[in-house]
Amino acid sequence: MSTSTQSLVSPEVLARYEAVIGLEVHVQLATRTKIFCRCPTSFGDPPNTNVCPVCLGMPGALPVMNKRAVELAIQAALALNCRVNSFSRMARKNYFYPDLPKGYQISQYELPLAEHGWLEIEVDGVTKRIGITRLHLEEDAGKSLHEGFKDSDRYTYVDLNRCGIPLIEIVSEPDMRSSAEAYAYLTKLKQILQYIEVSTCDMEKGHLRCDANVSVRPKGSTKFGTKTEVKNLNSFRFLQMALDYEIARQVAILEAGGTIEQETRLFNPETGQTAGMRSKEFAHDYRYFPEPDLLPLRISQEWLEQLQARMPELPDQKRQRFIEQYGLREYDARVLTMTRPLADYFERVAQASGNPVESAKWVQGELLGALNEAGKEITESPIPPEHLAELVRLIDSGQLTGKLAKEIFPKMFASGEPPSVIMEREGLRQISDPAELERLIDEILAESPKQLEQYRKGKTGVFGYFMGQLMKRTRGQANPQVATEILQKKLGQPT
Ligand code: ADP
Ligand code: ZN
Ligand code: MG
Repeated sequence: MSTSTQSLVSPEVLARYEAVIGLEVHVQLATRTKIFCRCPTSFGDPPNTNVCPVCLGMPGALPVMNKRAVELAIQAALALNCRVNSFSRMARKNYFYPDLPKGYQISQYELPLAEHGWLEIEVDGVTKRIGITRLHLEEDAGKSLHEGFKDSDRYTYVDLNRCGIPLIEIVSEPDMRSSAEAYAYLTKLKQILQYIEVSTCDMEKGHLRCDANVSVRPKGSTKFGTKTEVKNLNSFRFLQMALDYEIARQVAILEAGGTIEQETRLFNPETGQTAGMRSKEFAHDYRYFPEPDLLPLRISQEWLEQLQARMPELPDQKRQRFIEQYGLREYDARVLTMTRPLADYFERVAQASGNPVESAKWVQGELLGALNEAGKEITESPIPPEHLAELVRLIDSGQLTGKLAKEIFPKMFASGEPPSVIMEREGLRQISDPAELERLIDEILAESPKQLEQYRKGKTGVFGYFMGQLMKRTRGQANPQVATEILQKKLGQPT
């Protein structure tokens, strides 16, 4: 709990209430072109360069539905266990804002593309299903630029490049009961949509945007309280912070005998607080009506089946398969299936090395650690999966000790070289040849008459001294099992 939250209400009071949360998430679909015209969807181009009469809303210009956008939306719906409606319709949502040149947004209203879905989250080891009310297609609006120009005190500039970018809106049921559950829901949603490559979900580029609806009620009550809607949540951390603040604010009002006003509130990342933006009295009347310039969407069973057949493995399925096929532990399988590139990387190491459990250990421990430290993604790993597989094989065949492998690993990471090349150059290998080890052990015993004497008198702890000498002499390269056997044979039983 943040300090700003704590000053509103004590943890004891807070514990008497339960939060109710529903999220509305907008996701940019990964199409090359916009939803109703052929303008590119590329990010970061000069303002107002990716526009045409259709997305500028010129009179007489007609929209044409981008089939790829519909396909991606359907795939998202299927991955989220929604029922896809065989008949749905686009609708006009009318409002006036400088970044909306047509004076309406083309969206869906009473007949959305898909409904009645769910996804599963896990919080503190407990799994829970969160309902998805609806998933619909819509177009994005442009962007008002209030800052950054030398006359920004007098003017607002408008960039219409985003006008007509295809989005899906995913509305959840009010099924979440804490900010942690909301965080887990958004994380899972992002993971699924990235897995099926429906969206990059890049929050910094605005590809994933989230509004949170939240109310509170006394624990045990089954009636929903009045909700507020919190906007401007452009990171996962902000979502959690804003919800914690808003929950405490509402509880404090109710505790003081007040009532919650249904309103839209803005989160301020600098203060960690939310502030009222517009109350429901000033709520828009969007005057929705069916879009007359576009045909209804008719989605055949065959098309659905085709798209279902093309659906890649989802994160939960992949995790289960990793447990069954590779014998991984639940936790390890969860980490390794976090993203598809990571899961693919692990599978390539596992298959090339023939030792999935040891591969999992190296990918999860050393590799993820090194990548994290270097600020790199798995897709940028300087170590290709084949090299890591080679390392695992070298350990398995006894040519490398675990200790040596850990020494070689950072060199592989820094140079991009395979382990065999580094071993060759640096003369690193495990010494498993009994003859060679015997010769070294004989030398050590000859040089240590005092310790030998002690050992023979029953001071068996001296065994460790001999091993230490051997490791020192071989720079840790002696095979410990073979060396132990030889040493035991040489020393015999102490008297
Ligand atoms: P609105 O009429 O304001 O659009 P909806 O009923 O369509 O409200 O719901 C919008 C979002 O708010 C959904 O995600 C829904 O789950 C959530 N929601 C609805 N009622 C509540 C409530 N009492 N507390 C918290 N969230 C709620
Ligand atoms: Zn256009
Ligand atoms: Mg609504």
